[in-house]
Amino acid sequence: MSALRAVPIPEEAPRPQTYTAKAVAAQSPTSGMAAITIPRREPQPKDVQIEILYCGVCHTDVHFVHNDFAAIMPTSYPCVPGHEIVGRVLKTGSQVRKFKQGDLAAVGCMVDSDRTCSACRSGEEQFCASQPTFTYNAPDKYLGGMTYGGYSQSVVVDEDFVLHVPKNLDLAATAPLLCAGITTYSPLRHAGVKSGQKVGVVGLGGLGHMGVKLAAAFGAEVAVFTTSPSKAADAKRLGAHEVVNSKDNAEMLKRANTFDFVLDTVPVKHETTPYINLLKVDGTLTFVGAPNEPLPLEVAGLIFGRKKVAGSLIGGIRETQEMLDFCGKHNVTADVEMIGVNEINQAYDRLLKNDVKYRFVIDLASLK
Ligand code: NAP
Ligand code: ZN
Repeated sequence: MSALRAVPIPEEAPRPQTYTAKAVAAQSPTSGMAAITIPRREPQPKDVQIEILYCGVCHTDVHFVHNDFAAIMPTSYPCVPGHEIVGRVLKTGSQVRKFKQGDLAAVGCMVDSDRTCSACRSGEEQFCASQPTFTYNAPDKYLGGMTYGGYSQSVVVDEDFVLHVPKNLDLAATAPLLCAGITTYSPLRHAGVKSGQKVGVVGLGGLGHMGVKLAAAFGAEVAVFTTSPSKAADAKRLGAHEVVNSKDNAEMLKRANTFDFVLDTVPVKHETTPYINLLKVDGTLTFVGAPNEPLPLEVAGLIFGRKKVAGSLIGGIRETQEMLDFCGKHNVTADVEMIGVNEINQAYDRLLKNDVKYRFVIDLASLK
């Protein structure tokens, strides 16, 4: 990730009319979250205005609120997090073709990109050469300042970055698909995970539990590597074939050289050698967890086995819709614990203690 630079907006550029929306924000890394009122733009011709019904709580929200990425993406306060958004269309601009008032709609981690670079043209807006406009804490080209996320009553987004929600899925349990779902779907798909392969998922939290469900849905044999042995029964219920205590070296070594693909979702600094050891020749360890410090890497473990380490960032808009459609077809949603806005601070504390089963989702009706 390169540092975010605010896009300068010419003084003379006309700013759209705004309305106010209730939201929940952090005012500093240590303030906790509290109610705030934010401006949203009135829908422009290509915009969809969405009443937010549910928003998932991603560990990335906690990182940003705590300014964990200060060195590469400093947090601008007030910070309204939230990029797992589902709701109903309130209003559409005159040129909107894909949505109409009353439709279900979803928004993930991005609300815009330059649309012209090679990444955008190939449908990988998450790697936009000019930086995608992330749903929160990114320069807002319409209003100036920074974008505000989904812990809010409503949001206004260009229709090209709004997703269709499968009608058969529980709406609250669909919200986490917009980040945790696509962030695990995309690397599993890019690795070509399929029936007959062995996949490891490291960390059974929001991302990890979606990784288990999706890898199992792709037909793989799935193992969960957890620091919380108490989650073993849940892991099996979610689709894992085996559960391994990652702190037990003997159990880890027993499984050396047997995995095609391992997905690491851990949000803090940790050893990598035990997971590299799990890989077969030509196997890949992909990181989606985003610790804010460098991880140790013993290259000998890679050399002896032509093993690969990789990273992955969410997924493009086209792939996100593909993931939602896949989840609709296979009836895959997140396991959620619903909270009101007044429980967000407690939910953040619990996330830091690995105590989430398996995604907190905010019921925005509690903000009314
Ligand atoms: P989460 O719900 O808090 O889950 C993280 C899990 O990691 C925990 O439940 C725990 O599982 C495990 N863990 C925590 N501390 C650990 C430690 N010290 N050693 C080993 N395992 C540990 O978090 P999340 O929402 O899934 O997000 C995970 C990470 O992915 C965050 O860093 C987030 O910012 C990042 N993320 C990246 C992308 C992307 O596009 N790459 C997208 C979204 C999120 P066990 O109890 O099973 O050990
Ligand atoms: Zn996220």
